[in-house]
Amino acid sequence: MKIEQISDHIWTLKSWMFFEFRVWIVANQDGNGVTLVDAGIERMAKDILAFVEKLNKGPIKQILLTHGHSDHVGSVLKIVESTKAPVYGHPIEIPYLEGDLPYPRRKKTEQTLPKDVVRPFYIEEDGQLPSFGALQTYLAPGHSPGHVVYYHEQDQVLLAGDLFTSKKGKLKRPMKMFTGDMHEAIQSSRIVEKLKPVRLEVCHSGSVFDPAKQIASYIEEWSSLQKNRI
Ligand SMILES: [Zn+2]
Ligand SMILES: [Zn+2]
Repeated sequence: MKIEQISDHIWTLKSWMFFEFRVWIVANQDGNGVTLVDAGIERMAKDILAFVEKLNKGPIKQILLTHGHSDHVGSVLKIVESTKAPVYGHPIEIPYLEGDLPYPRRKKTEQTLPKDVVRPFYIEEDGQLPSFGALQTYLAPGHSPGHVVYYHEQDQVLLAGDLFTSKKGKLKRPMKMFTGDMHEAIQSSRIVEKLKPVRLEVCHSGSVFDPAKQIASYIEEWSSLQKNRI
């Protein structure tokens, strides 16, 4: 596993199996432990725990999921077993990952975690999603119905899960095969224009710097693709 500190408070942990998988360790603001964002594949559990031990900023206090696909929750059970950390996800996503509903464009349901492992976010009456320490949650659906992203405002880093992929610093669409509603996913990219992060992180490819500058052309490229199809 490759580890890189990407900002004052965030480390990226990367593993490979056919393609790349990233998870993020975020040092908690109060100096009390760390937060794990996404959980990759199962075999990453041991290395994640070993890194947190070595980092010496305290244990994993919580696990935040961008969404429930199997390659984002793989190490959850092993990490919960050893840390008892609570796991949070968007309430919209939970019936899909618990296997009550098939993900969009899938015929079959797929339970990626047992029931009651993931706790639903508390959502304010005005629809505002919670912040977990320095990380503010935003709904960015499309790749999956309850896909969220986490913004670390102080470090200006957006942890974007599978909202995008990237190639040589350019934003690319999420993987078609695993994306429920591509049109919705493209619309969700506007969150980047709103937040203007310095650095954007995705699970399966490299970082994108100053991504807000690319959003107009990213959306435009999709629109022209749609027009050509008619
Ligand atoms: Zn996914
Ligand atoms: Zn993924």
